[in-house]
Amino acid sequence: MAGTLLVPGIPFIALLLIAGSAAAWLAYVEWREFRSISRAYDMAMLAAHDGFWEWDPVTKALHVGTRLLEILGYDEDFLADTDGWLKLVHPDDRAAYNSAVAEHLKGKTVFFYCEYRVLAKDGTYRWIASRGLAVRDRHGKAYQMVGSVTDITERRTHQEEMEFLAQHDVLTGLPNRLLFSQQLHNAIVKAKERSCKLAVLFIDLDRFKNINDTLGHRAGDQLLQLVALRLKQEMPANCCLYRQGGDEFIVLINPISDANVAVDTALIFKEQITAPFLCGETDFFTSASIGISIFPEDAGDGETLLRHADTAMYEAKAAGGNAIRSHTPLMNQRVTFRMSLETRLRRALQEQQLELYFQPQVDTQTGQLVGAEALLRWHDGESQIPPDHFIPVAEECGLIVPIGDWVIEQAVTQINTWREQFGEIPPIAINLSPRQFWRPSVSQFILEKLQAAGLPSSALEVEITESVLLDAEGGSIEQLRHLRAAGITIALDDFGTGYSSLSYLQRLPIGTLKIDRSFINDLVLDDGSAGSDPLVRAIIAMAKSLSLRVVAEGVETVPQHRRLKTLGCDVLQGYLISRPLPAAEFAAKFLVHRSKVNTSLEYGPQG
Ligand code: C2E
Ligand code: CA
Ligand code: CA
Repeated sequence: MAGTLLVPGIPFIALLLIAGSAAAWLAYVEWREFRSISRAYDMAMLAAHDGFWEWDPVTKALHVGTRLLEILGYDEDFLADTDGWLKLVHPDDRAAYNSAVAEHLKGKTVFFYCEYRVLAKDGTYRWIASRGLAVRDRHGKAYQMVGSVTDITERRTHQEEMEFLAQHDVLTGLPNRLLFSQQLHNAIVKAKERSCKLAVLFIDLDRFKNINDTLGHRAGDQLLQLVALRLKQEMPANCCLYRQGGDEFIVLINPISDANVAVDTALIFKEQITAPFLCGETDFFTSASIGISIFPEDAGDGETLLRHADTAMYEAKAAGGNAIRSHTPLMNQRVTFRMSLETRLRRALQEQQLELYFQPQVDTQTGQLVGAEALLRWHDGESQIPPDHFIPVAEECGLIVPIGDWVIEQAVTQINTWREQFGEIPPIAINLSPRQFWRPSVSQFILEKLQAAGLPSSALEVEITESVLLDAEGGSIEQLRHLRAAGITIALDDFGTGYSSLSYLQRLPIGTLKIDRSFINDLVLDDGSAGSDPLVRAIIAMAKSLSLRVVAEGVETVPQHRRLKTLGCDVLQGYLISRPLPAAEFAAKFLVHRSKVNTSLEYGPQG
């Protein structure tokens, strides 16, 4: 507005000096004119809620209109000059303000414009937008500047709030990944200039999903808040904490003297997270996997640095969680390998490189075949890739769903063929991954396939791990009940490695417990000590009390078999009886002469 209202006035002080001279009258008229224009201007500004100012760049004298005084809460003529005004300008805005004035005085800008904060009388800062224009002499030298100010505090506050919201996480109040990437970028620029190091820590809570699933999302949110609070409270001065999303946090350590310091710091965070969190009446226990990457060793840009920290975190998670890993070039190789594995696995499905092997399960007492587990095999034309390597990849990329469908269809077809050849055979168990329960209905799919083949549901068994039960999102428990109601037995795999409690098991549609191989392995130790004997004994006793059938996995030796027999384990599975075999071999060995008792226990157990 001031830009359109040019005041060709003479500075106020100059007027006094020339009063009385011949030119004084003229000047006086001009001054009157200026004052009246200024007053009119003030009134216009008042109506527009703007404030008027007038400044002499030579004498530094400053006059401000009443509206500006009102905005800032000062009395009239509180400011003598520029220096007084500058003292009121927010220190962070002073440089920008000075440069905007200087640029305009030099004629580099068409008009002067600056948004800055000014200290008001009440001690708060007000945001003002100032716009002005220089009045110049014949040589272009500015001898006066006039302009207006608008109080934009509300807009800026609102804008700041919006910016804050865009850059912070609502749940924890921590800066978010957006702010992280900006600050990391700036930190890297500075670190490059100063040849400094910095570190990125990627923190991921272990099994956080279980907390959400078993205790509810509110409890999950609360835990995240508590973790954020605790970490923030103890954060060293050179660290900044961000929430990446979900149960992931990031710490930027800037600067850092060497990589070992990053590990030490990560260790402190890890311990803080493992200490119990009190939430209402309950104690929460959690742990974290932490990945570390260092600038400039691991990467020269923020994006790669974060990705490397993430990769290292995955390695920590793969090591069982509650662990810290620093990024190494080898990890990149593994990531690349995983990606190529995914591509190859997609092809494997199309090119029928997958096959089911069958491992017999026999009655502990009689040695008679009572079932078999179907286990997936992948031969990519060159070598056999173990399921432990490719199933986790398939689960992560979602390929487990089509692969799992293939397993179901293949198992049903195989059972059908065998039934045609050998009559009724014991049930064949298939493994189901948590992810398979995410889609509408894996249970429906299984039952349809059985029905289409004309098979009874007792022909098939399903093996799941505890992670399926904890993954309530897919309605997995309902689906399992559906299967159970249809007559399909459900076995809980790898029992003992997870968290299942007795009461929990009771509520689930489980018919069989498979004791994990690791316990069977330690059952009978060479030195004659008890090993896992008491544990296996307890598991078997518990299973009996719940009327569950018990299968021992990974039975490799005669002493293990004997011990399991004594302990009352129902079924054995393991290399002692047979390794998993291709379908034809399995049939030849276990289905053709099935009527004969004990064919499977060739060593002839004596009990
Ligand atoms: P799992 O379900 O616990 O399967 C048992 C594993 O133990 C099999 O390994 C089997 O070959 C091995 N094993 C059996 N007896 C012995 C023994 O006496 N000693 C030793 N050392 N090992 C024994 P495999 O076939 O390599 O499968 C590994 C895992 O891959 C399976 O563990 C299962 O979690 C997964 N898997 C295999 N097939 C499938 C499938 O079709 N679908 C899904 N979702 N997972 C599968
Ligand atoms: Ca299994
Ligand atoms: Ca198992």
